[in-house]
Amino acid sequence: MRFGFRCTNCAKAPSDVRRWRCECGAAFALEDSLPFSREAIDTDISGLWRYRAMLPVTEIISLGEGQTPLVEVELYGQKVACKLEYLAPTGSFKDRGTSLLVSALVEMGIKRVVEDSSGNAGASLAAYCARAGIEAQIYVPAHTSPQKLAQIEAYGAKLILIAGPRERAAQATQEAAKRDYYASHYWNPLPLEGIKTEAYEICEALGWQAPEKVIVPVGQGTHLLGLHRGFRDLLEAKLIEKVPRLYGVQARGCAPLYEAFHRRPPMQPRPTVAEGISIREPIRGREVLEAIRATEGAILAVTDEETLQARDIIARRGLYVEPTSAVAVATLKQLSPHLEGITVISLTGSGLKSPKE
Ligand SMILES: [Zn+2]
Repeated sequence: MRFGFRCTNCAKAPSDVRRWRCECGAAFALEDSLPFSREAIDTDISGLWRYRAMLPVTEIISLGEGQTPLVEVELYGQKVACKLEYLAPTGSFKDRGTSLLVSALVEMGIKRVVEDSSGNAGASLAAYCARAGIEAQIYVPAHTSPQKLAQIEAYGAKLILIAGPRERAAQATQEAAKRDYYASHYWNPLPLEGIKTEAYEICEALGWQAPEKVIVPVGQGTHLLGLHRGFRDLLEAKLIEKVPRLYGVQARGCAPLYEAFHRRPPMQPRPTVAEGISIREPIRGREVLEAIRATEGAILAVTDEETLQARDIIARRGLYVEPTSAVAVATLKQLSPHLEGITVISLTGSGLKSPKE
């Protein structure tokens, strides 16, 4: 174990790293990040563990995640680079973070975990726990797509359906966390360490240069925060000249970060086709807004109609993603005349995971 936590609010370090949040109620961050070294990349390993010298665990629980292709695609009259994160072992980018988290669970000797998810993180955790021989209970909203539910159960995890909004599943899990370890993909800071490798891969694929913009869907915002960390590591190592502008995308129906960023009055959340980012109160919201502002990016929002249209447009280019991923594609219509340099869109989840709308 090469990691320690500290609170993002009161800066206290916990007496036990198995705690899922600080006594003050805030989330933990990692105490420090291991510096990036190009020479330390292990080229004998494929996937994200080739960066193991930069990762804070010594155990490796892997299903072959990472090293996803970066493919040029023409969309809305613009050439962009799509990072095919949906080609991960369980069909979503979550596998990067889960591989790190479950590796740490094995190091800590944890045998049973609970987690809440809108689907993808739960499926990912179920798969990696199956790999590691850890018992997993996954709490999901009852309205989660049947494909994701089937996937979670197929890996052998216990599935618990919770009626009502996404937050109810989180509350039920926090209750269960009094008995079992809460392997949360958003409270726990370790998944960010796995996600940062996506930034490493993007810059490595571009010959150690940073793109101008990176666009990702945001719900809890862990994806954007992980990327931010990865790009900052490369800046500190003097491998890139600046951190790309980070753009987070929300669905109009549930867009608390968009509203906070643009100082708009909060709207009553509505159901959206982008189920994976439908989060009313992102617990790392402040950190997400800071990262966006620090990189001179923005939070954008798109309607469900724009999202489904974008899903169909990118599918006609041969890339089949779920609506939650298509929100990022849909923003190109807004950004289109202003695209300079390289724009990367992270395609986060497979279209096979959601029913046709
Ligand atoms: Zn605290």
